[in-house]
Parts: sequence; C-alpha cells; structure tokens
Amino acid sequence: MQGIKAGENLSSIDESLSGDEHTVSIEDLLERLDTSESGLTQAEADRRMDEFGPNILEKGRKENQIIRFLKHFKNLFSVLLLIGSALSFIAEWLNPGQGNIYIAGALFGVVIINAIFTFFQEYKAEKIMENFQQLLPPHTRVIRDGNVKDELASDLVVGDIIVIEEGDLVPADARLVEVNSLKVDNSSLTGESEPQLRSLKCTHQNILECRNMVFSGTLVRTGNGKAVVIGTGNNTQIGSLATLTGETSTVDTPIKKEIKKFIEIISIIAISLGIIFFIAGYMIQEIFLASLIFAIGIIVANVPEGLLPTVTLSLTLASKRMAKRNALIKHLESVETLGSTTVICTDKTGTLTQNKMKVYSLYLNRKLMDAEQITDEGEAGDIFIRISGLCNNADLIDSDPGYSGDPTDGALLVFADDHTDLVDLHEHYPRLQEYPFDSLTKRMQAICSTPDGNKEAYVKGAPEVILDMCSQVHTEDGLDTLEDTDRKEILKKELEMAEKGERVIGLAYRPVEGTDEYVDDFIFLGLAGLQDPPRVEVKESIAKCHEAGIKVVMITGDHPVTAGAIAKSVGLNDSGEDIEFITGEELKQLSTEELAERLKSKSIVFARTSPLQKLKIVQAFQASGEVVTMTGDGVNDAPAIKHADMGVAMGNGTNVAQEAADMVLLDDNFATIVNAVEEGRTVFDNIKKFISYILTSNIPEILPFIAFILLGIPLPLTVLLILAIDLGTDIVPALALARERGEEDVMKKPPRSKDERLLTSQLLITSYGIKGPLEAAAGFACYFAVLYGGGWTWGDTLSSGDILYSQAITAYFAAIIICQIANVLTSRTRRQSSINRDLFKNSWIFYGIVLELIILAAIIWLPQANLVFNTAPVDLKYIVLAVPFALTIMFIDEIRKFLVRKDVSYVRGILDW
Ligand code: ADP
Ligand code: MG
Repeated sequence: MQGIKAGENLSSIDESLSGDEHTVSIEDLLERLDTSESGLTQAEADRRMDEFGPNILEKGRKENQIIRFLKHFKNLFSVLLLIGSALSFIAEWLNPGQGNIYIAGALFGVVIINAIFTFFQEYKAEKIMENFQQLLPPHTRVIRDGNVKDELASDLVVGDIIVIEEGDLVPADARLVEVNSLKVDNSSLTGESEPQLRSLKCTHQNILECRNMVFSGTLVRTGNGKAVVIGTGNNTQIGSLATLTGETSTVDTPIKKEIKKFIEIISIIAISLGIIFFIAGYMIQEIFLASLIFAIGIIVANVPEGLLPTVTLSLTLASKRMAKRNALIKHLESVETLGSTTVICTDKTGTLTQNKMKVYSLYLNRKLMDAEQITDEGEAGDIFIRISGLCNNADLIDSDPGYSGDPTDGALLVFADDHTDLVDLHEHYPRLQEYPFDSLTKRMQAICSTPDGNKEAYVKGAPEVILDMCSQVHTEDGLDTLEDTDRKEILKKELEMAEKGERVIGLAYRPVEGTDEYVDDFIFLGLAGLQDPPRVEVKESIAKCHEAGIKVVMITGDHPVTAGAIAKSVGLNDSGEDIEFITGEELKQLSTEELAERLKSKSIVFARTSPLQKLKIVQAFQASGEVVTMTGDGVNDAPAIKHADMGVAMGNGTNVAQEAADMVLLDDNFATIVNAVEEGRTVFDNIKKFISYILTSNIPEILPFIAFILLGIPLPLTVLLILAIDLGTDIVPALALARERGEEDVMKKPPRSKDERLLTSQLLITSYGIKGPLEAAAGFACYFAVLYGGGWTWGDTLSSGDILYSQAITAYFAAIIICQIANVLTSRTRRQSSINRDLFKNSWIFYGIVLELIILAAIIWLPQANLVFNTAPVDLKYIVLAVPFALTIMFIDEIRKFLVRKDVSYVRGILDW
C-alpha cells in the first residue's frame, strides 16, 4: 500500500532535512516521510534508492597526490643521491666531457624512479587496504515489507525503519521510535566519549544534543532500539562535516622505526666515508674534481637504493597472502608487528570453539538429564521452553547452525523450537520490556504478559548470578523455599556439567506487576548445559604457538571448570605445565606485581572475566615486556583491542571492535591468527635477507677507491658501473628476496626480541666481513689478470681511453655480478640450507639472475653500452676466474648456516643474523 501512495506524495518526501525532525511528533514525522513503524515496502525502498542514491559518504578531498609524490624525495637516501647528482653536475660544468653528466643524470633518474616506484607501491597497497574494507561492508537490520532484513548499510533510504543493537555502527541519521536501555557513543561527532542514554523524548533544541536521535557513524554501546531514517549519505550530520579527510595514523610501527634507524646508520656510514675519501683523495692526489667524484661514488655505493620499495613490496605481498587466508590487515605495517608477538590472548567462545552451541543436558526438578528428556518433566519442562523462547534475542534461520544472533540464545531458541510452536508462544506472551544480556551482569531479562492477563519476568544467565536473584525453587511438587542446601546442590550440579566442557545457564521466573527490571524473589527453575565443540584446527595451531615460543592465553566469561575442560581439549596444557587459572574476582584483587608473577606461567586461563578486564590483562603483559595480540568481538572488548600491540577483531564481531582493531579475522578462527604470525615473521626475515644481499656488494664497490688512493693503481671500478650494479643488476634479485616463502623453522624459534634490530652486527659481519671481501677479491683477481695479461706492470698508469683499462674494469664488474648471483642464491635463507631450495618456487629469483646476465652481456659486448660505461669486450677466460670465488661464498655461507643451526654459540654470537 505504502508504495502506491508514495508515488502520489512524492513531493512530500524531500531528501533535504528541514531541521525539525527531532521536535515534531513521531506520527507527524512518519507521515512526512511517508512511512510507518512497520517500514517501507521493498519496492518503495528501491524507488527511493533510484531517486536519492545510495547511503554512502563521499569522502572529503584526499591529500594532494603531487604532494604525496614529492614526500618521497624527503627521505635521507634521496637527499644523498640528489646531492651526489648536483655535485656531478658541478663536476661536468668544471670539466666537461668526462662522463660526469651520465652520473648526474643517472643519480637524478634513480631518485625519480625510486619515488615513482614507492609511490605506486604505496598507492597499490592503499587500494588493497580499501578493497579489504569493502570485503567487510557494514550491514544493518532494516524492516522492509514488515520483516526484519539484513541489508547493506549503503542500501538504506529515508523512511526506512532500522533496528540497532549493542555494537552496531549507526548506519544513517535516524529518529528513535523504540528504545531498550539504548546508549550511544557520539564521540565521532561531538567528541563526547561518555555513552549517552537515549529516549523517545525531545530533550534539546539542538538536534545533536537531542536524546531521541541517533547519528550516522556513531556507535551503539548498550541496549537496542528502532529508528526511522531521516538522512542518508552526505545528507547526515557526519556528511556535513567538511573536514572529512582520509585519516592518517602517525604512530610509528616497529618496522617503521627499524627502517628509519637503518637508513640513519647507513647514511651516516655513507656520508662519513664520502667525506673521508674526499679529504684523503685530495690530500694524496690533489685533484679536486677526481676526489669529488670518488666521494660521490662512495656515497652511491653505500646507499641501498631499492630498500624502501622492497619493504613496501614485502609487506604488500604478505598482506595479500594473509587476506587469502582470511586475515585482513588494516595498516600495512601491522603485518610485521604480528610477527613479533609473544603472547596471544584469545577469546574461547567462537575463536577456539566453533560457536555452534547446542543444548546437551538439563538440570530440572532436582535431576540431571539429557536434553531430550525434557518432555517427561511436565510443568517445569513447559516453563523451561517458555523462558528459552521468550528471554531470547536470536532468530531462527534455515541454514547451519539454525540460528542467527548470539549463539547462547540461538541454542536455546533452537531447543525451544524443537518442543513448541514459537509463533504461537510469541503471540500468547508478547514481550513488554527487555533488559539485554550484558557480559558484566551476565544475565538477560524479559518481561512478558501472559494469556491470563498477568505479567511474568524471565531471566537467564550465569547460574551463580541467577541463584542470587532467587528465593524459591520450582520442584516436581510445586514451589519450595530455596535453602542453602539447594544452592549448594545446584552449584555442584553446575560443576558436573561444566566438567564436560558445557556452558551452564541458569533459568528463573517470577510473576511481576510492572516492567522495571527485577532482581530478587525469582523462582529458580533449572540449568541448561550448552556445548560448543572446539575447532579441529585449533589444537595444531596451539602446538605451533608453543613451539614458536608464543604464549597462548584463553579468556572467557565462562566458569573456570568449563573453561578448563575446553582448554585441555585444545591442548593448552601441552606445554608441560599446569594451567594457571585466574578468575575475574581474583583479577580484581591482584596487585600489579602479583599478577605479573602469575602471568609468567606458560598456560593461562582467565575465567569468569568481563571483557573490560581484558584491558588490565593487556597492560599487565605489556608491563612485563610482552608484545600482545588480543582478540575480541564485543563493544566492551574495544579498549583492550585498541591497547594491544595487535588488536584482532572478528569478522562476525561488532563494528566497534572492528573499528578498534588492526586486523580482522573473516573466519573468526584462532588458526588464522597463527598463520598470520607466521607471515609476519617471514616479512621480517625477508627484509633482513634483502639487506644482507644488497649490503654485500658495497664492499667490492668501495674497495677499488681505497686501492686507488692507497696503492695508486688505476681505479678498478667507475661510479657509473657502481650505478649499473646498484640500480641495474641488483634490483630484481633483491625484490625477489621479498617474495621468499618462510623458512621451515620460522615457527620453531622464539619470537624476535624487542631489541633485535634489522641491521645487526652479525649481519654486518657476514656481509661486510665475509661475503663482501670475497666478492672484492674476485673482482681484483679478474682485474689484475686482465691487466697483467695485457702486459701491464705494477706502477704503470693507464689512461681512461686505454682499451686495456676498459677491459680490466669490465672484468672487475663481471666478477661482482657473478658473485652476486651466488649471493642471491645463498641469501634466500637465513638459517636453513639454501641448496635444496627450489629455484622455480620463487621464479623472480630465476628471472632476476637471467636479467643480471643480460645486463652483464650488454655491458661487455654491446658497443653502445661500451661507449657509455667505458667498457670493452674481454676474454671470457678472465671472467671465469670469478666462479671459484662465487662458489666459495655459497660454501662458506652454508657452513655458517650449519653452525648456526647446530647452535654453536661462538658462531651464533657473531654470525647469526
Ligand atoms: P565469553 O567471553 O566466553 O563469550 P560471556 O561473557 O559471553 O563469555 O558469558 C559469560 C556467562 O554469561 C556465560 O558463562 C553464561 O553463563 C552467561 N551467558 C552468556 N551468554 C548469555 C546469554 N545470551 N543470556 C544469558 N546468559 C548468558
Ligand atoms: Mg559471549
């Protein structure tokens, strides 16, 4: 009907707000929006969508792309190279025709190419991140055609009636038509972070202050309600905030800090060496220009030009791989933070378990029984079904597991559905008031009217909570006072159920007069035992964590005995120590020091904790130096998620939790976290491999200058050839290392310690002390072989136009390339042998080597290249001399890895990077 009428009234549904939506009466507003409390028809909603467009916020102007591009010139490396370029220009200008113009151009080109490459890498990464966000489109519940439906938030139109509940992100601006203890967090709009109670009354002239409104982009903290949409898309309070720019986080992640430190150290080395060589060269040779060029050469040789793009590349690749494995990363660098995790605090329900609850056993009429036996229990059975069906917020669905919504509610609803007609039940016992489940109070209450015109309150919750509210007990022979012996007996039965790993829920009821929340004089009815089987893959993942030196901590609101049964079934105690149980009550009382002491234990279970206590847990771990990963899904988990080093939210969790998290698990699975940790560790390893590879060639690049100055021999390697290595042959193999798979032992060693650096002295010793000198030796061997072969004797000078000189530097260059091929092969692993690594598993390595050989061939034989680089074709017999050196590099590195694996402490101390 609505749809038909709407066509005529079209002009009355104006998309723009008139500003009095909060002051007019609900009836007037509904009429004005041409809707009703039972919502729009789907047809009418579609029509409005066509007319007014989707409920999407057009983002404000993004940061200017040109400025972003220019930012890439700001890093130290670029500045160094630009200075080098400028100096070369000056050299060319002072003494034209010496080829310095090539150097100047090349250096300038590098900076540009580097900036472009990094810019696009980041751009790509950003796009990936955006795509991730789109994998999690906000959903909302809306009433269409009289039924509650799950729709994309973007499909909302003005006039829709939305249903909001704890944890939701409000999808549009809306006027409330129903509230149940609804509290919202308007901080994204007003900065006021204290949750604010909502009501149906107009409490303020200012719409933002008015309690009968909810606004797009704000969060529902507790309770639930219904509201009619008055504004969508940019036509909302948040949409009108002009300052809506893509927010950028400025916190430095561990990897960012590491890279910064690395760049600083390398830059200092480069600049100091450059200056020393300039002064030394000038003092010895007294040729200003030549010394200047050397200085440039030294600086260029030291700067690892490909570092920044490689880091971004390896992070991007890892985040893509993780997405394939159901873990979405929100910020690129968090990938690596995961890798350094030392403690994973995980929820039990849903993450370690399947979140498919089912009622297994009951305690009714003072008897423990299987769930099916409820049919023999007469009135108690009927009331049990009634409470299960009425004090419940889940919905039945056709697909597995049979319900949507809270699994505890779902299991009870499915159970009730098995024994009664729920539609009938709801009709005869309409709900008057609801006090939703809250993990702090651990109970839920509903007040319904009964067919005989009276009212009844139904509660369900943690048994000890429910018992505290009861004064009578329902038995086969009618009501009885609830004695202390009864309480003891009931709690004993609860334990029996919990030992089987069951979550135990107590149920109670009482007649009432009004609709306030009742907290005493309830009649205790019985207990329900719900089972939620553990996920199969979890046991293996926990074992993996233990092997990887990562502590797994289980946190649950359940009874310690239930928690313990589940913990054992997933192997949490397999680390060889008894599980340390800490209850929420204890947690409250423990001092920070006492807590720290108990957190030392290998396996810890927090039971009967409230989500808010998770924050204390995170802080306690962090205080003892741990890197904490914390999972959560509810509103109350948000502070802990935010505070953890790595906050993890569930794909099924609330928007609030997802908002606070660094990573979202699409499958809610603990195993996924562990896979992600593995990726994170691999990233760090790969960056190290890259650095080890690329630093090695600095030595054969620098030593020629030293030899030239100290020994007075002709300079064995020119600046242009250095550039050909750093910017040509080295690049693809280096990038290829970023694509390496994790080594077999990534999850077999303890987490990297907080002070393990990217650039360690061990790495420098290996690259600068072993591999680099071997490469230089190969270079000099080839170089002198050519010279002596051509009749040169010690002390002779050679002009740069001499063909023998050209051949000699060509041989030196070729030797480095051959050694770098060996280097990239051995750099594929840090600790494992790289001999049996399949070359084609990472095809980039293979193509990188092929490309190196092509460039080498061109520089040797291509006349044009000869001209630019001052090289010349040289007899291959001289170049082959480098091969034994290359093999030695691989051999020695294998020995190094072997000794490191064998844990030879002396070797590990100096060579284990
Ligand atoms: P968890 O952190 O394991 O999900 P919760 O905080 O959700 O634990 O639950 C804590 C306790 O509250 C449970 O052991 C159960 O007794 C009770 N409970 C859980 N869900 C509900 C619910 N929907 N209605 C009533 N009681 C519940
Ligand atoms: Mg729960």
